[in-house]
Amino acid sequence: MKVFVVEDLRAANEEMARENRRLLERYGLVVVNLIGGPGSGKTTLLEKSIAMLGDRLRFGIIEGDIYTTRDAARLEKLGVEVVQLNTAGACHLDAAMVGKALPELPLASVDLVVVENVGNLVCPAEFDLGEDLKVAVLSVTEGSDKPAKYPLVFHEAKACVLTKLDLLPYTDFDLEAVRGELAALNPALEVFPVSARTGEGMGAWCQWLLRQVPRKRQPASGC
Ligand code: MG
Ligand code: ZN
Repeated sequence: MKVFVVEDLRAANEEMARENRRLLERYGLVVVNLIGGPGSGKTTLLEKSIAMLGDRLRFGIIEGDIYTTRDAARLEKLGVEVVQLNTAGACHLDAAMVGKALPELPLASVDLVVVENVGNLVCPAEFDLGEDLKVAVLSVTEGSDKPAKYPLVFHEAKACVLTKLDLLPYTDFDLEAVRGELAALNPALEVFPVSARTGEGMGAWCQWLLRQVPRKRQPASGC
C-alpha cells in the first residue's frame, strides 16, 4: 500500500506551482487566482470586467468547477480564451490541474490569466497554483462575519472585491465594519466595493487589474 501523507502532497503541489511559475515567467504573464464562495459573483465580476476592458486587456481564463461547464460557456460568449477545469468532486483547484490547463491557453497572445477557483471560501486559499495574486470575492449578501470566520483567504489576498453593492440596502452587511476587519487582517489589502449590475465601483477594480499586467514584463532593452 502506498501512503501519501499530507506533507508529501503539499510538497508535490509546491513543486508543481513552481513549474507553473517558470512557464508563466517565460511569457511575462501575471495570474490572478479568484477565490470566493458559491454565488459570490465571481463569474459575473469577470463577465463585466471583460466587457468593460474590451480590447485593452486580452484575458485568458481558467474556469474551475466541480462538474459543469456553465461558467466557461458564459465567458466564451464574450470572445475570450477559456479553458474549463472540472475537478470531479474536489472542492479546490491545485497546481497540477492548473499546470494541465495553462498550455491550453494561447499564452503568447493574452495579457492576463485569471483563474476562477471552485466556489469555496476555505481550502482554495491553502493551495498555491503558481499564481501571482489572490483576489478574494465576497458579496454583501453573504454577511459581514465572513472575514472573521474565514480569515486565511482575506489574509493571503492582495485585493478583495465586495460584490452586489446594489443589494446593500436590503442586507445587514456593515461595509465600514467589514473594511475595519479586513484592514486588521491584512493592512495592505485593496478593497473594491462593486456592483457588476450597475457598474458602480467597476472602474476602480478594472484599473487595478490593468495595473497588475506589467508586473512581470521585462523592461524594454535600451540598445
Ligand atoms: Mg462561477
Ligand atoms: Zn478543497
